[in-house]
Amino acid sequence: MDPRIKKALEDETKRQQNNIELIASENYVSKSILALQGSIFTNKYAEGYPSKRYYGGCENVDVVENLAIEYATKLFDAKYANVQPHSGSSANMAVYRSLLSPGDKVMGLNLSHGGHLTHGNPVNFSGLDYEFIAYNLDPETEMLNYDEIRRIALKERPQMIVAGASAYSRFIDFEKFRDIAHEVGAYLFVDMAHIAGLVAAGYHQNPVYYADVVSSTTHKTLRGPRGGIILTNNEEIIKKINKTIFPGIQGGPLMHVIAAKAECFYEALQPEFKVYQEQVLKNAKVLAKTLQEEGFKIISGGTDNHLMLVDVKSLLGITGKDAETILDQIHITVNKNTIPNETESPFKTSGIRLGTPAMTTRGLKEAEFVHIGHIIAKALKNKDDQEVLKELEKEVLDLTSRFPIYE
Ligand SMILES: *Cc1c(COP(=O)(O)O)cnc(C)c1O
Repeated sequence: MDPRIKKALEDETKRQQNNIELIASENYVSKSILALQGSIFTNKYAEGYPSKRYYGGCENVDVVENLAIEYATKLFDAKYANVQPHSGSSANMAVYRSLLSPGDKVMGLNLSHGGHLTHGNPVNFSGLDYEFIAYNLDPETEMLNYDEIRRIALKERPQMIVAGASAYSRFIDFEKFRDIAHEVGAYLFVDMAHIAGLVAAGYHQNPVYYADVVSSTTHKTLRGPRGGIILTNNEEIIKKINKTIFPGIQGGPLMHVIAAKAECFYEALQPEFKVYQEQVLKNAKVLAKTLQEEGFKIISGGTDNHLMLVDVKSLLGITGKDAETILDQIHITVNKNTIPNETESPFKTSGIRLGTPAMTTRGLKEAEFVHIGHIIAKALKNKDDQEVLKELEKEVLDLTSRFPIYE
C-alpha cells in the first residue's frame, strides 16, 4: 500500500479509537459489515436488477441483493425495496425524479430548522430543480406545528410533502403528515435517514405505514455501510423508482456495499439490535438532562430520539464553531449546527449537534454519558484555561481507552 495512504489509515484508526464520537449521523459498523464492504464483491459489474442483469457471472451478487431486499422489507414491514442508491442523497433524487416533474411544488423542513440539503436547499439539486416551499419549527415550542404545516399546504397545494430531518430531536407524527398530504392531494415522502435504526427497533412510528415512499441512509442509526435505500408498498411507485435508479441516475450498483447492507438489515433483525437502540435513547436522555442541569438550552426542550441540538451561544456567548474547535482539542468530536432563528452564518452557527449512536455501539451507558455531559460543559466554560483542558483531555483518553472500537 502507498505509505502515505497507509499512514492516513493508521492515523484515522487511532483517531477513531481515541475520540469520543458524538456526531449524530455516525456510527461504528460491525466487523462483518467492514469485511463485506472491503470484499471482492467490489470487483463485480451488475447493472440491472437480480435475474435481469446486463452482465454475466451475476449469480452470487444476485443472492446478496435478493437477501438485502428480503431483509429490508422484513425489517420495515414494506412490500418493496430498492437497495441500490449509492447514498441518501441519490435515494432522494430518485424519489423526486420518479414522482415529480421539474418545477413542481414541494414542501420540506427548512435546513436551519433541522431539514436536510436535499429537502429544497437553494444550493442543492432539489432546490434548483423543484419549487420548494419551506416550513419552519414553531417559534415558541421549537417543534413541528402540524396546524401550520396544514395551513401552508392548503395555501400552496404542493405535489409532494417531505417529512424527515437531520437535526430534529422530537418525535415526528407521520400519520398527521399523511392526513395533510391526502387532504391536499400531495404525495407524502418520508426521509427517515436519521431515525431508521429507531424505526427498525420499534422505537419510532414506522413511516412505511403512512408515506407513499420512504427513503433512508443505511449508515446512521441503522449502523450499516454508507449508502441509501428506498421503500414503498406501492407497486406502481417501485416500478418508477427502479427505472429512475437504473438506468435513470446510476450505473453499476456497488455490490460490496449492497452485500454489507444485507448484513446490516440482518443484524438489525436480531433481538440485540433492539437492546442497542433502547440504550441509544437512554443515553441521549441523560446527556440532554446533564447539559440542561449545566445551564445549556436544548432546542425544543429535550430529545425523544438519538440526538439533540445544544444552544451554546445563549449561555456562553461562543459560536458553534468555537465549541466544535474547543471540544476537538480534548478529543470530543461534534459538529456545529444552525439552530432555529439562527443569527450566525452557517460557518459559525449558535449550536452544536450531539448524538449517542456511535458511543452506545462502543458500550457506553448512562453513567459515562453523564460524565461526558460534565466534561463538555466544563471544557466550554473554561475554554481559555489550558490546564483545565489538558486535564479534560486526559479524562477523555482514559474513557475511550476503556471502550475499544474493534477488539
Ligand atoms: C444524512 C441525510 C441524507 C443524506 O445522506 P447522504 O448519504 O449523506 O447523501 C438525506 N436526508 C437526511 C434527512 C439525512 O439526515
